[in-house]
Amino acid sequence: MRIVVLAGGIGGARFLRGLQQAAPDADITVIGNTGDDIHLFGLKVCPDLDTVMYTLGGGINEEQGWGRADETFHLKEELAAYGAGPSWFGLGDRDFATHIVRTQMLSAGYPLSAVTEALCDRWKPGVRLIPMSDDRVETHVAVEIDGERKAVHFQEYWVRLRASVEAHAVVPVGADQAKPAPGVLEAIASADVILFPPSNPVVSVGTILAVPGIREAIADAGVPVVGLSPIVGDAPVRGMADKVLAAVGVESTAAAVAEHYGSGLLDGWLVDTVDAAVVERVTEAGIRCRAVPLMMTDLDATAEMAREALTLAEEVRGA
Ligand code: GDP
Ligand code: CA
Repeated sequence: MRIVVLAGGIGGARFLRGLQQAAPDADITVIGNTGDDIHLFGLKVCPDLDTVMYTLGGGINEEQGWGRADETFHLKEELAAYGAGPSWFGLGDRDFATHIVRTQMLSAGYPLSAVTEALCDRWKPGVRLIPMSDDRVETHVAVEIDGERKAVHFQEYWVRLRASVEAHAVVPVGADQAKPAPGVLEAIASADVILFPPSNPVVSVGTILAVPGIREAIADAGVPVVGLSPIVGDAPVRGMADKVLAAVGVESTAAAVAEHYGSGLLDGWLVDTVDAAVVERVTEAGIRCRAVPLMMTDLDATAEMAREALTLAEEVRGA
């Protein structure tokens, strides 16, 4: 079975681990969000690709959900001693090596997709990880600080400001000119199932869908497209997804997120059991819906979620 997953960082990565347990023989292609990418200290950092790579490759800091396990921060301290910022973005010594190799390869002319493949040669994530695009796309958030309206990089909004100010707009800068990376459209066209994990619907899955051609390819693939709600009990399970959902005019409910994707894209939607009351509303929107436990508390629980998603996909296929 060929499964394509559109993934952001932590939520996407953890779900993928469950999917691998649920479908050990599946051929999984992950299309990763690169809208969170940022240049720091002259290096290209791809937080979401790295979170997927480290999580599936066994190098992740498990408690934190991002960054390397067994990490030290000497380099960061030395940079700070020179007054070289920013200090708000956590880059550890081990993690730095990834960004150095990536930047070196990009400077030598390799596209990001080839660089990602090379980095995965070391981590062996057990999936094919492809960035959504080799072209630069950068998510910016329009905010108002001290009465002044300005756009900040997504990482500055998320990590430095902790989404503490209202987001007026979320713009994937460069997306309209970006092309899907080699392999993206081919993977979608040959997929048996397409899954949207519990990733951020705006700044992760939404950004991937903003690359011209990807949304259309998924809608036209003619295979079941099933998503899992990142909103449980009217709030994000972790992070501040409600802030960016508000910016695009979507309420933070499992039903509203399903309707935001729409029946033109989604065939099936899983909501948590606490949201069982919305199953009817989602079904009326033309999306097959089921309420099952959606908390990724451990690997077995996550694998069960993946199994439910694949079961729903089979139901869609049979319908
Ligand atoms: P990021 O790039 O690290 O923000 O990660 P993602 O884009 O993959 O998505 C994070 C989203 O996953 C957030 O909106 C969370 O609410 C959601 N999430 C995290 N853990 C869980 C969980 O255990 N269950 C569900 N249903 N959603 C989760
Ligand atoms: Ca992210």
